[in-house]
This record gives sequence, C-alpha cells and structure tokens, in this order.
Amino acid sequence: MTPQAELVVDLDVYRQNLDVLRRLAPGAQQMAVVKANGYGHGMVPMARAARDAGAEWLGVATAEEALALRSAGDSGPVLCWLAAPGAPFAELIDQDIEVTASSAEQLEEILAAAPRRPRVQLKVDTGLSRNGARFGPDWTALVHAAARAQALGRVAVTGVWSHFACADEPGNPATDEQEKVFRSAVDELSAAGVDPGTRHLCNSAGVLTQPSAHLDLVRVGIASYGIAPDAAVPVPGVRPVLTARARLAHVKDVEAGARVSYGYRWQAEHATRLGLVPVGYGEGIHRTASNRAEVGFAGGRLPVRGTICMDQFVVELGDVPAQRGDIVTLFGPGDDGEPSVEDWAVAAGTIGYEIVTRLAGRWARTYRGER
Ligand SMILES: *Cc1c(COP(=O)(O)O)cnc(C)c1O
Repeated sequence: MTPQAELVVDLDVYRQNLDVLRRLAPGAQQMAVVKANGYGHGMVPMARAARDAGAEWLGVATAEEALALRSAGDSGPVLCWLAAPGAPFAELIDQDIEVTASSAEQLEEILAAAPRRPRVQLKVDTGLSRNGARFGPDWTALVHAAARAQALGRVAVTGVWSHFACADEPGNPATDEQEKVFRSAVDELSAAGVDPGTRHLCNSAGVLTQPSAHLDLVRVGIASYGIAPDAAVPVPGVRPVLTARARLAHVKDVEAGARVSYGYRWQAEHATRLGLVPVGYGEGIHRTASNRAEVGFAGGRLPVRGTICMDQFVVELGDVPAQRGDIVTLFGPGDDGEPSVEDWAVAAGTIGYEIVTRLAGRWARTYRGER
C-alpha cells in the first residue's frame, strides 16, 4: 500500500536529464552536483545513478558529504568546496577526494594536513564574493603559494574554478564580466608556471545561458533534477525527477462559515468538503504556502486552505468525490495535472531549489529505476 507520505524518485528520469544536459554542453565533462542530500532527493542513490549515466565527477559542498560518498562505495572523482578551519583534510586526501583552496592560507592548511601530495583545485572569486580568492592580490597570493608548493612537489593542482552570480538572468552583463575575469585568472595561473588543469565555471543556468563558459567541465545541479534554475531559464528536455504525494488522513463535510486551521486564516463561504493531508513543515513543506499552494487530485487541483501546520494541512475538496486514503500529489512531473516544484516555489515565495532541499522528516522514500 502507498505510504501515508511518500517521495518517489525516478532515477531513470534523472539519468535521462543528465544525458540531455550533456548534449547541451557537449565538449565538457559533467559534474553531477549531489550536495544537500541530492537536493532533497537522497545523495547516495542520486550519486550512483549519476555514475551510471556517465557523470565523470560528483560535486558536494562539505567534507562530510564527500566522505559519505566514499562510505557508500563511490570511488570516482569527487570535488568538495566548502570547508571551515579544522575540516578533515587528511581524511579527504587519504580518500582521494579533491579539495578546493580558496586562499593561500587555506592551501597551507590543506598541505599541512595532507598525508601525501594532495590534489587541489583553486577557486577564484570572480564577483560573487562568497568563497574563492578574490581576483587581484588575494588570487595572486594563492597562485604564488600554489606555484611554490608545486615546485616543492607538495601539491598537484588539478583544476581552477569559479561560480556565477547571475547566470539565471539571461543577458545580464555580469556573467560575461565574470567569464572575462575567470579567463584572466587562469592566464595568471599559467603564467606562474602552474598548469590550470580542469577549468570550470558553469552551474545549470550557465550551461543554458553562457555556452562560451562551458570550458572543460560543467557542474549541473538543479536542472538535473528537472527543475528550472529560474522561470527565465527553462531547461528544454528535462523532466522532474521527484513526486511528493500523501494519502488523505481524513475527509469531512463542513458548514458555511467553518474556519480552518491555526489562526482561522480561512473560512468557508459555502458548505464544502475538506481533506486532511498528513504532511507539514515537519516534512519541509513551506508554511508560507499556506492558503496559496495547490495539490493535484484526480486530474485536477485542490487549493490549500488555511495555515500549513507541522504535521498536516487542509485542502478543499468541494464536490470532488474523495475518501480517506485517496492520494493527493503535492508536486510531480505534471502528468496528472499536479503542480510542479516551481508552482510551490511561487506559492511559498521562494525558489524551486529551496522547495526540494527542505524536504525532511517523515516521508517514506521510494526509488524507481534502481540498477
Ligand atoms: C550548488 C552548486 C552548483 C550547482 O548549481 P545549480 O544551479 O543547482 O546547477 C554548482 N557549483 C557550485 C559551486 C555549487 O555550490
């Protein structure tokens, strides 16, 4: 029987999406980004499916994520990029995980911890002002530190990379500017006698909007899960990987004037019928979508009524025939008219990334297409 609340992840669709994205960046290697629990889809199953689809690389943010991939048996190229001081660099290097240096100081920390010559990628900040050595004196310092360490045989520099700020806004001149800065940073590294190795700059949006920046590798996250980076950047040919569905825990008729859920933020104008969906913000469903989102049911849509609670929320069935145990679909590929992740993002006042990444709590997870 279908569980009370279920996330269904279609690995065949995920692999097909990776194929579609590969064709959009045909000259580049592919890094499947599986951080944040595979954008809520489950990191390890997505990582395995990505390898089956031919992804040369897996990308994660933290050391813990990278080590979890190794614990799950992945032995291919993995890059991680977000480490506060004290990160387990020795273990990462011991496990053949490539790490990112964002400053001369961080490179020194990596080298000091390394049990043997580490494979390190250098990150340049081309404008986003998050991680990476800012192009200018900070980058120059990192380049020189890397050149010195390389001359002493202490490091293998395997790549240089950066990250776009506005690639999801087609035509935003910031993207060209960042690409230009990146190329200058790569030139500076080469001029210092360091082979830049694998050069990479594009996220999903960049794959679509900035083909000149595909370079040696692209890092695909959101689009591989079948979700557009932004409404302005549709991704032709990909399909949503994830379906979130739940079985109605209760169905009841209410009279005109009935008030619904905490704060009585919705009131029935006419007598109507309500259904109780047994998931809430404990499962990562955004409370800000209260009174705004819809769910799919029987080929149509039902509106969410009132406040979304920790464990549950109410939908209005009206005169749609329904009974306890019937399945409603919060979001999915849309084959039965159900909303998309993007629809929930609009209702919740956020982006699709946050809708899926927040999924947590008491869902059963079902994987289709496991090999
Ligand atoms: C998350 C992330 C990506 C993937 O971005 P999408 O927009 O999901 O494709 C790529 N590179 C880095 C550094 C990231 O942190």
